[in-house]
Amino acid sequence: CLSMHSTDPLNGLIMKIMNDIKKGIQYAFQTSNNMTLAMSGSGHTAMECAVFNIVEPGESVLVAINGIWGERVAEIAERMGAKVHTLFKTPGGHFTNAEIEQALAKHKPVLFFLTHGESSAGLVHPMDGVGDICHKYNCLLLVDSVASLGAAPILMDQQNIDILYTGSQKALNAPPGTAPVSFSERACHKMFNRKTKPVSYLLDMTHLSNYWGNDGKPERIYHHTGPVSGFFALRESLAIIAEMGLENSWSHHTEIAEYLWKGLEDLGLKLFIKDKDLRLPSVTTIAIPEGYDWKELLAYIMKHHRIEFTGGLGPSVGMVLRIGLMGYNCNKANAAMVLAALEDALKQCRKSKA
Ligand code: PMP
Repeated sequence: CLSMHSTDPLNGLIMKIMNDIKKGIQYAFQTSNNMTLAMSGSGHTAMECAVFNIVEPGESVLVAINGIWGERVAEIAERMGAKVHTLFKTPGGHFTNAEIEQALAKHKPVLFFLTHGESSAGLVHPMDGVGDICHKYNCLLLVDSVASLGAAPILMDQQNIDILYTGSQKALNAPPGTAPVSFSERACHKMFNRKTKPVSYLLDMTHLSNYWGNDGKPERIYHHTGPVSGFFALRESLAIIAEMGLENSWSHHTEIAEYLWKGLEDLGLKLFIKDKDLRLPSVTTIAIPEGYDWKELLAYIMKHHRIEFTGGLGPSVGMVLRIGLMGYNCNKANAAMVLAALEDALKQCRKSKA
């Protein structure tokens, strides 16, 4: 059990579990960053932790919005008093490095946010070169990989990403409630040399870095009660992905996604992301077929096939149907079941032209 008082050292077993988690995240993120840990909370906790610790009120932040996750980060940064600038595309769009560079030069932000796996649109964003451009403008790069980690390649150190976070419940297969995050040396320099304290006590990295044994101090003391059962599960899920190997996990997700995409096209459906290289293997988006009510399709599939499809999320509502095949659920049998359900729904739910 965890100790109860503010000066109590942490219990040895949980420290060992946390140390293993740190190593597992370093592998999954492909980073050697010392400042690597898991947040007690879902993906949003890591999102807020990154923004709250890196940015001080009044500083300029640039957020790429091409779906709901950029919208959320812009709101989080605005709430804590940052000067928020946005780069905007409708869902499904992506940003060229030239567009990013132009905006960095114009707004001179301390932080640039980009979503790697945009799950509301089904897009995997190209990452190469983005970190270098950010550093040219003395800006830190924050990347959301909640929906993509383990399903599509992301290499934190090689791609010069300063802050990377993910969630436990997507391709990692653990229950929701813990969120891996890692900070580069550059990010640590900025966040540990602030003039003001971060707005959140719970998410303050000066405390969390001690709690996770990352600050070099001999004693790790109680900061908050960690979700211990979530930590055990996260440790196991990271061990599984390490045993499988990241490359195998990426190629497995791609293979199943390609099988699904082909099946969907054979049913006459149009994939929302046209360029195959930009499709997120873990979340496939289908353009809503003409002559159908998307809500009726979802309800029919739930009622008759007991499969939960979803519609869009945030700005993609009414544009897409979404199918998630990730981690344990990502296999050919499930993809085939999804295709059979859709085939049936397409036959039964067509609206009459009258
Ligand atoms: N970012 C992305 C890309 C996501 O897909 C999600 C969850 N769907 C989140 C962030 C938020 O994660 P959570 O629900 O775990 O807070």
